[in-house]
This record gives sequence, C-alpha cells and structure tokens, in this order.
Amino acid sequence: MKINISNLSEGVHEYELSRSAEELGLSEDFTGNVVAHAVLEKTTRQILLRAKVRAQAVFQCDRCANEFRSDIRSVFEAAYVWEAGSSGEESDDFHILSPDTNIIDISKDVKEYTLLAVPLKLLCKENCAGLCPRCGRNLNAMPNGICTCPPKEMDSRWGALEKLKKAAH
Ligand SMILES: [Zn+2]
Ligand SMILES: [Zn+2]
Repeated sequence: MKINISNLSEGVHEYELSRSAEELGLSEDFTGNVVAHAVLEKTTRQILLRAKVRAQAVFQCDRCANEFRSDIRSVFEAAYVWEAGSSGEESDDFHILSPDTNIIDISKDVKEYTLLAVPLKLLCKENCAGLCPRCGRNLNAMPNGICTCPPKEMDSRWGALEKLKKAAH
C-alpha cells in the first residue's frame, strides 16, 4: 500500500489502495483484500493522511462457536513532516520525511489499525444465546432460545436436601 509522493502537488489527493490480508501479514481469520481509502493533504512542509480501512474476517463466536463473517472497519490519521536533519521522535501517527523520500508505505499502519479494530469479544450477533449448558446444542436455533432437552437429574446434594424437606413435612 504505497503512495508515490515524489511529484505530488499541494492540495488534496485521494487514493484507493488494496492488498490481500495475507500480504499484509494478517492472521488466517482475515480473508480477501484489505481496502484503504486514503486522503492526503499536502502542504509545503507536511502531508496529512486520513485513511478509512475495510477488512473482512471469519471469526469463531466466543459463545456458540459458530463461524461468522465480520467487517472490520477502522480509521486512522497520520502526519508526515519534512524536517531536514531532524532528530525528532517518530511515533505511530507522526513520521519524519527526508527530502529524498518518494514513497509513503501505509501497509504497517493499515495492519495495526485493523487489528486494533477487532472486538475483544467475538460474537456472531450481539444477543447470541450460546450453547445449551446441558446438551451443548446451539440455542440460537431453538425457539425462544430455550432448549428442549430434558433437564438433568438433580445433583445428589440437592436430592438429599429435597429428601430432608419431604421428611420434615
Ligand atoms: Zn454465537
Ligand atoms: Zn439442551
């Protein structure tokens, strides 16, 4: 995901960049191409970059273990500044350009922001009902999310308690 800046005029420029998830070094969960829509604003001393990124992934639901497709969208901004002989510190969103820099490569940023956009909890849907704690079947397929399997026999401790209760009456 490289942008040639060698003959870039001042002003706003837009780019549509695409690279396969595999080439970006994303995990196997990601499929197809990652697409970045980048807007570059060039002035005499710097380039401001704003990028919208869209990636596709197939995850396994944390609750029901079903696989589901997910669109991972992220947005990031970065500044590229020309500073001759500068000793300034670079950071994730601040890059220093030397006078002979011709190419800006945003692959690393695209990868990092895509990974940051992956939710901590992976759910096939927000209200995923998960699996039946008794028989392990997927509750999303059950009417009202309630399983029809028979309840297990009561735990022996509770059984003993029930007997005591009955004896008391
Ligand atoms: Zn689920
Ligand atoms: Zn069940």
